[in-house]
Amino acid sequence: MNVARAYRLLLGVSTLVLATGADAQVRREFTAVHMGVPVRMVLHSSSDLVASKAARAAFARIAELDDKMSDYRPQSEVRMLSQRPGDWQTVSPDLFAVLARAEEVSRNSGGVFDVTLGPLVQLWRETRQTRRLPDPDVLSRARSRSGAPMFEVDIEHSAVRLWVPNMRLDLGGIAKGYILQEALKTLRTHGIRSALVEAGGDVVVGDPPPGQAGWSVFVAGGDTATLRRAKALSNVAVATSGGSEQFVEIGGVRYSHIIDPRTGLGATGRHIVTVIAEDAALADAAATALSVLGPERAAGFRKKYPQVLVSFRTLPEPSR
Ligand code: ADP
Ligand code: MG
Repeated sequence: MNVARAYRLLLGVSTLVLATGADAQVRREFTAVHMGVPVRMVLHSSSDLVASKAARAAFARIAELDDKMSDYRPQSEVRMLSQRPGDWQTVSPDLFAVLARAEEVSRNSGGVFDVTLGPLVQLWRETRQTRRLPDPDVLSRARSRSGAPMFEVDIEHSAVRLWVPNMRLDLGGIAKGYILQEALKTLRTHGIRSALVEAGGDVVVGDPPPGQAGWSVFVAGGDTATLRRAKALSNVAVATSGGSEQFVEIGGVRYSHIIDPRTGLGATGRHIVTVIAEDAALADAAATALSVLGPERAAGFRKKYPQVLVSFRTLPEPSR
């Protein structure tokens, strides 16, 4: 064997080792619109084929869950629950997981987080379009069909009960977190451990990208410690609430798209909150609750969840 041939052979072998070794990862991004927003996935995978198969499965899982939990679809499982007021109803494991978590966060936030506020969320969507506060009678009728005490959860039997007719559960403050986490799980069953999935202010991450300490996640509402932490995250969820453009200004007051159950109207605090937690549904719901509570009223809630990292930023009042 001459030297040149031996060298070529050696080169061939070493390329092969590189291609099949631990570093042989491709980074792929996929984006598709689900839940009314772009959902983005970043995957580190052994091959293009594995990455695209996994992404397809994860998007299918997102669509399946959105079908169950969307309040926009009249036939969704969550909408069907309103049809039998007063009865215990068993629900699918996914929907039950979200409803049980919602009920817990509701209890721990003194009812500030409340998935029964559906009628008020609907009313507020109109308000945002007309830019006129709801008529007091209409508001009080919507309030009579909402409220945490009218929603019960039976953990043992995976059942829920809604108390009055025409209630409407709105999972807009919690479902996205759960769904993104399930997407990450689906990627994992397809062999991808290092991935990031994000949509509309919520992010979940798995194992760090190859050769790195963790994922770097942009945090809108972060203090310095949180910003530092957000540079190397793994196997956690990050949720941000309160900073959206979905506010409305009426009579010089700025109302958020998150309802303050005390008034039945959009919350008026100017807080952006970022939450980092192991469980993504909890992160999502906690961010929604804390954006209404604000730093002044957050202590009780934070005590219930000592593992959850919370960071507030309060927007300045506009100068007039
Ligand atoms: P984003 O809209 O950015 O996902 P959130 O996670 O904070 O923000 O969710 C806001 C959504 O939660 C609203 O659009 C509505 O569907 C629902 N919602 C509004 N007010 C409340 C509340 N007090 N408790 C629980 N869910 C709420
Ligand atoms: Mg939320």
